[in-house]
Amino acid sequence: MSLTSLIGLTRTQLADELTAAGVEPKAARMRSGQVWHWIYQRGATSFDEMTNISKTLRTAFAERFTLERPEIVTAQISEDGTRKWLLRFGPGIEVETVFIPDEDRGTLCISSQVGCTLTCRFCHTGTQKLVRNLTAQEIVAQVLVARDALADYPAGKPTELRKVTNVVMMGMGEPLYNFDNVRDAIAVMSDGEGLTLSKRRITLSTAGVVPMIQKTGEEIGCMLAVSLHAVRDELRDELVPLNRKYKIDELLAACRAYPGVSNARRITFEYVMLKGVNDSIADAKLLVKRLAGIPAKINLIPFNAWPGAPYECSDWAQIEKFADVVNAAGYASPVRTPRGRDIMAACGQLKSESIKQRASAKLAELQRMPA
Ligand code: SAH
Repeated sequence: MSLTSLIGLTRTQLADELTAAGVEPKAARMRSGQVWHWIYQRGATSFDEMTNISKTLRTAFAERFTLERPEIVTAQISEDGTRKWLLRFGPGIEVETVFIPDEDRGTLCISSQVGCTLTCRFCHTGTQKLVRNLTAQEIVAQVLVARDALADYPAGKPTELRKVTNVVMMGMGEPLYNFDNVRDAIAVMSDGEGLTLSKRRITLSTAGVVPMIQKTGEEIGCMLAVSLHAVRDELRDELVPLNRKYKIDELLAACRAYPGVSNARRITFEYVMLKGVNDSIADAKLLVKRLAGIPAKINLIPFNAWPGAPYECSDWAQIEKFADVVNAAGYASPVRTPRGRDIMAACGQLKSESIKQRASAKLAELQRMPA
């Protein structure tokens, strides 16, 4: 019998699993609380470590369950301290996870899908055929891999010494095409007695799956980032083909109505700087005009090239001029410093060599839009 992983289950699912393994139903809540604490607060990888649980029960757990992590295919460290892991969840099922340390925070960038169906023209991941959605378990496991490597479990650690302080769903894939698993994974990550990442420090980035935006606010409640990249539909149609389905007006209307949005909880708009394509001063002016009235942050991302990319990064002087317009409209320090470029860990450079598997069927299933 293959072992069931307990990583990434909701609290209810965990209690059900433990009951099935012989825990008395009336003790299920207490036991699952203990196991939860060991997994997420202490980073336990075996049941032996769970010393407040009887030996008999630990043996029963070990016969059925596992806390095994995904295989780490490669672990790289950039000269700027950025780390990147290539993780394998099964044959051909690989994703990348990136940790970006800063003075005041440590951001973990995690993936939601193996590959991506969106084919944004400037994104490397889009050149890889989608293999499949990640499960909630596989999404949470990325956080555990980082916390293992950084010795960063919360138990007994003062908040100011934490390394992973923020999570961004900005790795491979479109999180809103994998809504249920992303929702469940974020619930596990933000549990106050577990990984304790506040929802205000978890940002989900979408290319603009408009019908899912309200649901994201209501059911997930995390911070939202939108990959805007262009302010004219004819250009956005080309850069982000999803725009052919949901136009900029509709997207911005959904942002205006995002549950919980306020000046204290702004939406981040990402804008990749592509030389001669979307970086004119006229576009900068149109950008601030179109965002007027939305509590927003603007993140200008210098384009990170990859082999065969059809674009170049805007010149620095042009990025500064563009940023001046944005700053003058009241948005502070918007240029994102590229990190980890030397190990291909920067935005849009993630790509695993996962093989296309049952791709056509999966693709059809994933692109079927939820109502
Ligand atoms: N599918 C989601 C999340 C993944 S991409 C989304 O589209 O938002 C995370 C961010 O990196 C997006 O803003 C994406 O547009 C940006 N990005 C992709 N390729 C890039 C590149 N080559 N250089 C800079 N940013 C890029």
